Amino acid sequence: MAEEGYITVTDVKHYAYCEAIVYIERFLGLGEQATEYMEYGREIEKEKNLGFIAAKLKASFIIKKPLLCSRELKLCGSPDYVIISKHGELIPVEVKWAEPGRHGAAKRDHALQMAAYALLLERTYPGERYSVKTGYIYYLRPQGRLVRVNIDYSLKLEVLKALERIREIAEGRREPKPSLGKCSSCNFLRACPYSSLKEERPAK
Ligand code: SF4
Repeated sequence: MAEEGYITVTDVKHYAYCEAIVYIERFLGLGEQATEYMEYGREIEKEKNLGFIAAKLKASFIIKKPLLCSRELKLCGSPDYVIISKHGELIPVEVKWAEPGRHGAAKRDHALQMAAYALLLERTYPGERYSVKTGYIYYLRPQGRLVRVNIDYSLKLEVLKALERIREIAEGRREPKPSLGKCSSCNFLRACPYSSLKEERPAK
C-alpha cells in the first residue's frame, strides 16, 4: 500500500487503460479481481525468462523488484526488474501475461507504466541523476516477445499530467472518462458503475 497521498505506478497504468479504474480503486476503495492467469504470469513465468532478457539487454547487474518512491512526484512503484547494462544504462523491465499491442508495439497503458518507472529511477537511483530513455516489456503471449519502449520527453510529460488527473479523480474533484470499448476484457467490470456491459433492469 502506498503512503498517504502517494500514487502508484499501477494507478498510472490503470488510468491509461481506463480512468474509471482510478475512481473504482481510489475513490470507491474497491480492488482488482486477480485472475488465475494474472497470478500465473506474475509468479512463475517471469523468472523463467529472466536469463533470456538479461542476455538480450547485455545486463551487467539485475535488481529484482526494487521499491522506488519519489517525494517530489509523490509516486511509488516496483518494476519487475531494473537492468544495468554494461554501458551503465538503467533499464526498467516488466514481464506481462499479455499480448503486445498493435503491430507488435507496447500497449499504451504499459508504455506509460514504463515512463513512470523511468521518472522514478531518475529521481531515486543513488548517485548521479540518470536519464532513462528505454524500457522493455516481455510479453508472454502468444509466445515470448521482448518489446522496446522509447521513453521520450512527451511520454514522461504524459505521465506527469496523468499524476495530476489521478489525484483529482481520487479526491472526487474530477469525473473520470470511461473507456467503454474496453469493458469486455476489464478485470473491474463487476465493480464498475460506468460499464457499458451492465444489463439494464426492465422497468416494473
Ligand atoms: S468496466 Fe469499462 S468503464 Fe469500467 S473500468 Fe473497466 S473498461 Fe472502464
